[in-house]
Parts: sequence; C-alpha cells; structure tokens
Amino acid sequence: MYSLDDTIVAISTPVGEGGIGIVRLTGPDAVAILTRLFTRPLTSTPSTPLGSGFQPRTLTYGHIVDPESGEVADEVLAVYMPAPRTFTRQDVVEINGHGGIVALRRILALCLRQGARLAEPGEFTARAFLNGRLDLAQAEAVLDVVRAKTDTALQAAVDQLAGHLSDQVRAVRQVLVEVLAYLEARIDFAEDEIPERAIEPDLARAGEHLTALLASADRGIMYRQGVRAAIVGRPNVGKSSLLNRLLRASRAIVTDIPGTTRDTLEETLNLQGVPVVLVDTAGISQAASDPVERLGIERSRAALAGADLALLVLDTSEPLTDADRSIARLLNGKPAIAVLNKIDLLNDQNPMTQAQGVMHDWSLDIDHWAFVPVSALTGEGLEALEEAIVETVFSGRVAASEAPLVTSPRHKEALRRALDHVDAARTAHRACVEVDLLAIDLTAAVQALGEITGQTASEDLVETIFANFCVGK
Ligand code: GDP
Repeated sequence: MYSLDDTIVAISTPVGEGGIGIVRLTGPDAVAILTRLFTRPLTSTPSTPLGSGFQPRTLTYGHIVDPESGEVADEVLAVYMPAPRTFTRQDVVEINGHGGIVALRRILALCLRQGARLAEPGEFTARAFLNGRLDLAQAEAVLDVVRAKTDTALQAAVDQLAGHLSDQVRAVRQVLVEVLAYLEARIDFAEDEIPERAIEPDLARAGEHLTALLASADRGIMYRQGVRAAIVGRPNVGKSSLLNRLLRASRAIVTDIPGTTRDTLEETLNLQGVPVVLVDTAGISQAASDPVERLGIERSRAALAGADLALLVLDTSEPLTDADRSIARLLNGKPAIAVLNKIDLLNDQNPMTQAQGVMHDWSLDIDHWAFVPVSALTGEGLEALEEAIVETVFSGRVAASEAPLVTSPRHKEALRRALDHVDAARTAHRACVEVDLLAIDLTAAVQALGEITGQTASEDLVETIFANFCVGK
C-alpha cells in the first residue's frame, strides 16, 4: 500500500519539448525542499528574503539552484499550496520550469537529493483519495478527463469528477443501509421492541434508481472507451481511400495509435461525440508470394479480432467475387455495415438491390446489416455512412444530448451486482423468507455500491486502479 507520510515528487507534464514543464511535490517536506533549492533575484524587496517565506498560492519568480555547486538549473515560477486545501490534502509545491526534458530532470534530481521520493504512477491522485479529498469514482475520473477523446467523453468525466455519479450511488446506498439497519434490529431484538415498517417501497425505489443508472451505462462506456470498427474487404475495393476520406471528414482526428497486431493500423475518429477507432489493414506491404485473395482474408480476420463493428467494403463497379463472400462470412453475426463503394462508376444500376440480392444468394444473415452506397473518390455518401456507424453503435437507442453518468465497465458491473442483490432481496421478502437471509443480500448490495465510491474497496482494487495512471498524476 502507498505510504502517506513521505514527500513525493514527479515531473507532471508530458515528456518532450514544451513552453513550460511542471515538477510537482507533495508531502510534509515539500516546502522545505523548495526553500533549499530556490533563490530569488537579488533585486527583490527585503520583505521577501532569499529562499524562504513563500506566500501561499502565489507564484514566485526565481531560480532553482544546486545548493552544492551553486549551479543554476533553471529559471522558474514556484508556488506553495499549504495543506489541507490542496489536491492531496497535504502541502503541494509546483515548480514551473522551462519545458525541456533535461531542465526538468535536473530539477527532479535536485528534489530527490533533498529527500523527496519519486512518485509511483497515480500516487498524487491516490493521496487525494486516501486523504478523503476525492472518492474512488472521482479519482478514476481524473484519468478520464486526461484521456477523454471527445467533448462528450470529457463532459462525462468532468461530471464524474464533480461527484455526480458518486452522489447518486451514495443516495441509493443510504436507502439500503437504512433498510439493513432496520432488519438487523429485527434480528437482534424481539419483534415487539421494533415497530414494524414496510421495506418494499424502499427496495423498489433503490431498484428503480439502479436500473436508471444502468440504462445509460453501455452508452457511457462507448463514449469513454470508444468503439472499434474494422474496415475489411478484398484488395482494391477502396479500403484505404475510404479510411482517408473518413479521417478528413471527421471533425477531430484525435490520435494515431499503433495497431494491436503487426498487420493492422488504427486511427481514431470523432463521430458525434463517440470516439471510433478504425482498425485497418491498409498500407501494409504485401509479400510477393502471398496469393492476393488469401491475404485479404487473413488481414480481414486480424482487423476483425476484437472489433465491435465491421465495415465490409465492396466494389460495386464489379460483380461480387468469391473473395468478397469469404470475407463476408468472417463477420459471423458481428454488427456490420456493407459499404457499397465506387458508386461514381455506376450508371443506372441500383447498388443496394444488387448487393443485397447476391448476399441473399450466399445465404448470409444480413437482416441487421446496413447497406450504404458511397464513393470514396468523390465523398458521396460519406455522411450517410457516419450516420450509419453511429446508428449501429447505439443500435437504435437515441443518443441523448446530455453526458451519461456511468462510463466505466467497473462501475456498471458493481451497479449490476447491487441490482441483482436488491432484486433477490425483494423476491425473498415477498416470499416471506427469514430476515437474516434478506440481510445477506442487502449487505452484498451495499458492499457493491461502496466499491464504486471506495467506501468498501479492497486495497488490491485501489492499487489496481491507480496503477493505470501515469507517473506525475
Ligand atoms: P484497398 O486495397 O481496398 O485499400 O483499395 P484502395 O483504397 O487502394 O483503392 C484501390 C483503387 O480503387 C485505387 O485506384 C483507388 O483510387 C480506387 N478507388 C477507391 N475508391 C474509389 C471510388 O469510390 N471510386 C472510384 N472510381 N475509384 C475508387
């Protein structure tokens, strides 16, 4: 487990060149360490003596100097924030240096030499949690804010950081705790000592509240994690052209993530607030000995692994081929959109009826597929394709405009467990089962909800959560 009584330090800004970079310290010696390393310009007023007496929460201009050699490490602005009104509830010091990695590392090294310890990943936020500044769901939201890929994802993370989810979870938990207290009194005392009270309305209310929270969870998870869509199809149908079109049309190209396998590439699009990770096999050089057809199938298989959605690209300017059929079969029940490409080459033919007809002949189960005619060359149909992707992602559930409350699979799982126990308790109550059996289910529900806010989270769980953070957060 994390220790809380030493002083930790880390570079809190990303590695690389930046206008400024920040070294952050927290713990009992933070200000003493700063004082030993900091000097002010000699022109400063006598009321601000060299290297001490920091005005709380005020940026002070000066230099970080190696106390042994007298060498200046960097010109900085430093701020001291006294406990307890800080992120970690301990003294916090931030040193704003120039954002070069060598300068920041020198400041970091000097802090370490003065007795600070290098922070573990997420340790600043872990201190905020352990000292009661944030609950667990709020602490997790810190990372979600940093990692948000779209405005909606960011809004959801900011709401969670502000405690919106925690407030709701605590409210349900409180209802259950009160019912539980009543049941336990009934177990401990004779019946006539405890006035009878109806618990069913409370349990029903808790169940409804949990159901409402769970209703938006899948949508919320999609906003936070994004959706993986595989672009598949035989060579030359226009997969790369389509990917490039989608990337250009997308309002925000967020990141280039290296592919999860050697054979795939990934790009993230922002489609109406949902980060859509396109997994593509384009641009991968083809070994001369590979038969073209087999290659298409193997690459499609790689792209499909782990994808939530498939975009099957077909060339409508030619009859569909056996290779198209083999790839279509790989989809195997996955939500899919048939992208009928190259419609600019068609005269009067209707690409929809043609493709659907052939696929029926192939006895593919296309009932739930969307068919979208596009031209990757001219851009025609691209908007309809984006609509179809979002529609398929939400499977007909309308994307509400407000940010969802539940965005993490961990929270969803805990809410589901709590709801199952509440339902079990209600069934048992209706069947007039012994009170102590009811109490077991309600205790489990209270426990599950406490795992979201951290009231009942195990040390292992807490450590696992913070291990996902980067150093400096
Ligand atoms: P991939 O092998 O599936 O990635 O296919 P490419 O994107 O490399 O495209 C193969 C060829 O088809 C290229 O010459 C493209 O310019 C062309 N192409 C792609 N999409 C269209 C389209 O919508 N209309 C026309 N006329 N040509 C296209």
